Amino acid sequence: MAERAIVIGGGLVGLVTCFELVERGVQVTLVDPAPASGATHHAGGMLAPVAEVQYRQEPLFPLMLRSAALYPDLVGRVSAGTDLPTGYRTEGTLVVAADWADAEHLSDLSAYQEFHGMTAERLTVREARRLEPALSPRIAGAVHIPGDHQVSPRLFAAALLDVLEHRGVRFVREQVTHLDGADPCRAVHCESTVLDASGTTVVLCNGLGAASVTGWYTGDNPLQLRPVHGDILRVKVPAHLRPLLDRVIRAFVGDRPVYLIPRDDGTLGIGATVREDDRPVPRAGAVHDLLRDAIRLVPGVEECDLLEATVGARPGTPDDLPYLGRVGANLIVSTGYFRHGILLAALGAAVVADLATGADTTDSELASCDPLRHHR
Ligand SMILES: Cc1cc2nc3c(=O)[nH]c(=O)nc-3n(C[C@H](O)[C@H](O)[C@H](O)COP(=O)(O)OP(=O)(O)OC[C@H]3O[C@@H](n4cnc5c(N)ncnc54)[C@H](O)[C@@H]3O)c2cc1C
Repeated sequence: MAERAIVIGGGLVGLVTCFELVERGVQVTLVDPAPASGATHHAGGMLAPVAEVQYRQEPLFPLMLRSAALYPDLVGRVSAGTDLPTGYRTEGTLVVAADWADAEHLSDLSAYQEFHGMTAERLTVREARRLEPALSPRIAGAVHIPGDHQVSPRLFAAALLDVLEHRGVRFVREQVTHLDGADPCRAVHCESTVLDASGTTVVLCNGLGAASVTGWYTGDNPLQLRPVHGDILRVKVPAHLRPLLDRVIRAFVGDRPVYLIPRDDGTLGIGATVREDDRPVPRAGAVHDLLRDAIRLVPGVEECDLLEATVGARPGTPDDLPYLGRVGANLIVSTGYFRHGILLAALGAAVVADLATGADTTDSELASCDPLRHHR
């Protein structure tokens, strides 16, 4: 059983991993020049194992459902160690169709969700507007997914950092450049520090940055990570319209996906595009599309203040599955969480903590996440 761990990367995946390790009595060092500054800073934070279902991603479904089930307990344990809020909300999600073609798409999707044993309740427009009166009367249909919840990634990360500081985690605010081996990993080399890794579990969980950390593999890097950019907006609802929404609204508008996430502070997150054009700044057309589609669904958005337009880079993999597992005697990889890293952080962290502490980790559902599956 590892008594010490070095966790590389303090995005939400790394922070929850540190937390689960500390919970099991492991002494943790977290290495990150700017914790929670990557995809986590931009993410919507939907914990949506049902609404986020994509065709032909079946191996992901059980992982997403398992991770969602871990969240209430995870948030409870984190909240017990800090006064900071997490933005965890359980009002559920409405998936809305803007026109009749979108309604057909939605109907196919809910049949697929039901086929996979998930709960998705079809609603009439009137029933949907009873739940969320700010929805436009011009929508064509809706599905209620009560089990899809949300967290505020920025708040949750800040709460985790607070707990980790109080629980004695050592912070090294530097970039890791390379590792000295994998089997075993003898040292972690940072820009100006070298951390001794003997007798220590090393966890490589720095999102997209994991692709730049060398020294632990031969030949090509087995982690085929690529940035998948997402534009996302933050608007403030004027006091006289609050609360504009209680539930997360996800929608198809002319076949374009859009979502609106209500936060406790009276803001809404409106996202998100999916772009692989390597342009890491908000695109004017994307901002326009997101606002137009959001206003079509919830006309009150027109009266909101636009606070922010940002872009994050999701760590994508060739098969949309994470890289999660042991790759050497004391080296574990946990990255590539693509569109679901906030949701999957709970499961990923529990798996890493099990691996690090020698708990039984036989888990057939995780076989598809082998970090070396793309090694050539
Ligand atoms: C617009 C948008 C919306 C999204 N919405 C959702 C959503 O609603 N639900 C959901 O589940 N997921 C969502 N995601 C996906 C989610 O944000 C990511 O999957 C998740 O944040 C990945 O977390 P991570 O900790 O692996 O990586 P990151 O959050 O990117 O963190 C990586 C960390 O590693 C550090 N780092 C990098 N290189 C090094 C190095 N060499 N040494 C040390 N540290 C290093 C960085 O400073 C950073 O803090 C969204 C993403 C985007 C962009």
